Amino acid sequence: MSEATVSVWILGDQLLRAHPALAEAERRCGRAAVRVVLVESAGRAARLPYQRKKLVLLVSAMRHYAQRLRAEGWQVDYIQAATAGAGLRQHAAAHRPARLITMAASEHGGRAFQREALPALLRLPVDVLPNTQFLAGQYDPRPGLPPDKPYVMEHFYRAMRRRFAVLMDGEQPAGGAWNFDRSNRKRLPANRQLPDLPVFPPDAITQAVMAEVEAAARGVGTADGFNLAVTHDDAQAALDDFIARRLPDFGPYEDAMTARHATLYHSALSFYLNIGLLEPLALARAAEEAYRAGRAPINSAEGLVRQVIGWREYIYWTYWRLMPGLRQRNAWGARRPLPAFFWTGDTEMNCLRHVVRRALATGYTHHIERLMVVCNFCLLAGIDPAQVNDWFLAAYADAYEWVMLPNVIGMGLNADGGLTATKPYIASASYINRMSDYCAGCRYDPQQRAGANACPFNALYWAFLIRHEAALRANPRAGQNVLGLRHLDSDARRSALAAADRFLNTL
Ligand code: SF4
Repeated sequence: MSEATVSVWILGDQLLRAHPALAEAERRCGRAAVRVVLVESAGRAARLPYQRKKLVLLVSAMRHYAQRLRAEGWQVDYIQAATAGAGLRQHAAAHRPARLITMAASEHGGRAFQREALPALLRLPVDVLPNTQFLAGQYDPRPGLPPDKPYVMEHFYRAMRRRFAVLMDGEQPAGGAWNFDRSNRKRLPANRQLPDLPVFPPDAITQAVMAEVEAAARGVGTADGFNLAVTHDDAQAALDDFIARRLPDFGPYEDAMTARHATLYHSALSFYLNIGLLEPLALARAAEEAYRAGRAPINSAEGLVRQVIGWREYIYWTYWRLMPGLRQRNAWGARRPLPAFFWTGDTEMNCLRHVVRRALATGYTHHIERLMVVCNFCLLAGIDPAQVNDWFLAAYADAYEWVMLPNVIGMGLNADGGLTATKPYIASASYINRMSDYCAGCRYDPQQRAGANACPFNALYWAFLIRHEAALRANPRAGQNVLGLRHLDSDARRSALAAADRFLNTL
């Protein structure tokens, strides 16, 4: 039996450079008396048909993290087991620690398991330390706010800016305004050269993981071509590359979409933020530093800071306010099953074909494609929110329950009754046509509302407005959407409803 008296369990999405459970265990009994346990759970990996690059990212980052801890002098027990619980039982039986220290999981079920099931399962005292991965875990701008009371993201965001002193000049926002959205809605010029992401060629550890993941029965896409960062240093290099090469143009083109390029000027750093290889405040401060040094305009720096300490933290905060029960929300009564093309990309709708194929092949599309193409379609077509959520969880390499439930069921599908976002994000083809080049290569016509070549987004959009007119009119922010219905007489309404039904019957 080992002399270790304390074990530290580090979860696969908590690969923090400075992990609070390691610091606490070392403080209590010294590094030599601590054993660190990481568990690769086969059950977790098989829960959904995950995108294979996502599995490679998670497993390879865990194995590299274990390697780093060993190099720093920690004793590490790296276990492959059917479940996390089985792996921890195996560890406890082999090493008999006096207690287990861990950091609170970011997800509801994981945290309940740590607090309620684990002490009895291991017959050990379990110390669950506060989660330090999120700023919203360290500061709550509206503590105790009842879950049925909305708190808009803009107020949350400004409170976070003030509390963490990001892009602030004293009490005032840097650049003289809180919001530069009006400068940030540009369409991408044709033929503009776009910078590619840095690539991190797989080392021997990653290559072994790729072979294992490729051989697994369940999954979508392929591990081939995996080139993401799996260590802190490489994730930092990805951050540095973003700040130097893409941040300056991030703001103006953050809502633009193109068939030519997946990432445009986006950071694509959520892969690393969501497993602890990068931390949100460091990213926000790097953007601020670039602005202060004159290397990025304020609309780009503010746009990035808004994403990281605004939206991302708001989403995490909202998740914990609305759990449990968020997954079951279905305010618009959507019951249609997820269309099969979500697993193949085989659809004639050019925007959806590109976005779905990109997600299945790479585990990534940027946020406007997720919101205004995929979620917009699913909301208008009445797809079951829980099925949409599971598709996002499976297909996207940065997707975890805490981010997807509020983002998909809340913001994207407005199925939470407007608690995450105050209005449904719905749009006809004209939005997609204005912000992308998808329509130019599509067999459908974004200008037509009826007829064989009419874009399905148009019929679905008008049918949604007609069917939910009363509810939309009652929402001061969504009321704008229904104004166009004034121009539709009863024949036009009947025709839009029939066109939408004809399309939905083909799904
Ligand atoms: Fe998408 Fe409609 Fe444009 Fe085709 S025409 S790309 S389906 S919005």
